[in-house]
Amino acid sequence: MPIRVKIDRDQCIADMVCVSLCPDVFEMDPNDGKASIKKEFRADPNDPSVGEVPDQYKECVENAANSCPVNIIHIE
Ligand code: SF4
Repeated sequence: MPIRVKIDRDQCIADMVCVSLCPDVFEMDPNDGKASIKKEFRADPNDPSVGEVPDQYKECVENAANSCPVNIIHIE
């Protein structure tokens, strides 16, 4: 089952910790400089804050969520 990931992007401090730990799933959006779900995993292509991510990435998404200094990556 895919895991649902949500980033509260408004509060992102753009330190790129999630991108360093899980570059297959997270990227920095060049438009606003905040963390985003990569396009291929977005639930809605126009919404960079919500992803449906295959189970194989669970560990790296969890690492990113646990390491985000402002705790804004949520796994549902
Ligand atoms: S780890 Fe958190 S604060 Fe840092 S870039 Fe990722 S979402 Fe933003």
